[in-house]
Amino acid sequence: MLKCKDLVAKADALVDGAPMTMRERLAMRMHLLMCHHCRRYVRQLRALLRTLPRETDALDDARTQEVLDRLNIPQDR
Ligand SMILES: [Zn+2]
Repeated sequence: MLKCKDLVAKADALVDGAPMTMRERLAMRMHLLMCHHCRRYVRQLRALLRTLPRETDALDDARTQEVLDRLNIPQDR
C-alpha cells in the first residue's frame, strides 16, 4: 500500500501526465480514493499548475529585462 509521502513524491508526475507504469498509476489512484489529504494535495497542485502559464504570459518587457539582468545576460546580442 502506497504511503502519503510516496504519493506526494510522485504527485507532480501524476498531475503532469508524465509516463509511469500502470501499476504505479493504479496504486496512486487507489491511495487517492482512500486518502482525502492526498486528494486535496493533488487538487491544489493542479490548481497551482493552471495558474503558471498565465503568469508567464503576463511577463512584460521590464520584468523580462530584470530577469535577464539578474542572470547577467547582455541585452543586445
Ligand atoms: Zn495520502
